[in-house]
Amino acid sequence: MSKYLKQINYLYKRRRYLIYYFCNVCGSKYSLDEIVWNCSCGNYLSLITEGALKKDDIINERYSLWRYEKALPVKLESSTVTLYEGFTPLAKVNWKGIQTYFKLDYLMPSGSFKDRGTTVMINFLKKLGIKKIVEDSSGNAGASIAAYSAASNIECEIFVPESTSAGKLVQIRLYGAKVNLVPGNRDKVAIAAIAKSNIKEDVFYASHNWHPMFIEGTKTLAFEIWEQLGWDIPDNIVAPLGGGSSILGLYKGFEELLQAGEISHIPKLFGIQAQNCSPLYSMFQGNTKEFKASPTIAEGIALEKPIKANAIIEKIKASGGEVEIVTETEIADALTQAALIGYYIEPTTAAALAGVNRLLSFGKISNEEATVTILTGCGLKASDKISRIPGVFKDE
Ligand SMILES: [Zn+2]
Repeated sequence: MSKYLKQINYLYKRRRYLIYYFCNVCGSKYSLDEIVWNCSCGNYLSLITEGALKKDDIINERYSLWRYEKALPVKLESSTVTLYEGFTPLAKVNWKGIQTYFKLDYLMPSGSFKDRGTTVMINFLKKLGIKKIVEDSSGNAGASIAAYSAASNIECEIFVPESTSAGKLVQIRLYGAKVNLVPGNRDKVAIAAIAKSNIKEDVFYASHNWHPMFIEGTKTLAFEIWEQLGWDIPDNIVAPLGGGSSILGLYKGFEELLQAGEISHIPKLFGIQAQNCSPLYSMFQGNTKEFKASPTIAEGIALEKPIKANAIIEKIKASGGEVEIVTETEIADALTQAALIGYYIEPTTAAALAGVNRLLSFGKISNEEATVTILTGCGLKASDKISRIPGVFKDE
């Protein structure tokens, strides 16, 4: 057993429970040295930490998310891989006549914000001695996990929907991962990946939607925004919303800053869904009927049954924010508008900007407020799909 695991085990056995997995349905607790990705009751697990980050905890000479190592359950020194992820620019942008901010997370090593969660999760799994993983993804998480698996010598197999952008598939394969195309919706892809995992045969299900370590990485988004705004928080943050890894991470990060006494409250979090696949919007509106989805160009947020749905709604409400929806036309328009001011983003990301347009027109965010939009994924990954969007080219 590694020194790291011995230490975790020691703390757990002494019932100090400094850091452990917790199931909010049945109340079970798990030590971090247990190789699990969900609770035995079937629910997902959360990581309970004594997290709190203070200004003085930041390691200033590290220009990556590892500058916030104090708040992370994995430390850089004992890690296997970093691709120098994080600390992406916070750009001041004039969007439709108002001053706003874009968080340029599409400038990550694998071209999407997922690298935040992946670097923490993969380094943690490596410590556990995991040698082979399977994962399901609409593309970006798959590409990210394939990249970090390659760099840390973990064998990797990614299950993706048949409709995934060609660019993402090329990327996953080039990183050396095996790609499995699965017909049907996103949920069928997850079922196929879980069926392939087998703990007895050392094949671990390393899912960005399930594994608690993923949110530990995405929470650094909150730390960066706070630091880059000069130790301040914006009024609003807008992000594309599918499985919730950015929204849940943002909430956790701000919560830890709140616990440390560094901020006074959590900013309003707005999650934007494609109207064609908007189960969380439906829930937010109080509908209890199961949502039936239709295809959307925002492939990265096309999840019919997000596993952390209740938690996502709860956190968004607690922040004073909302879930909003946008049409396919609005997404395509926002994609073009972004490109015309120099930002080449994928349709999933454009959904967030279409959301900003709606929130502005509804008066839910205003000109006087500071709003940050998370630009989650790079357009280059989806060029094949973008080129087929009717009316997307200005000169046609
Ligand atoms: Zn449970």
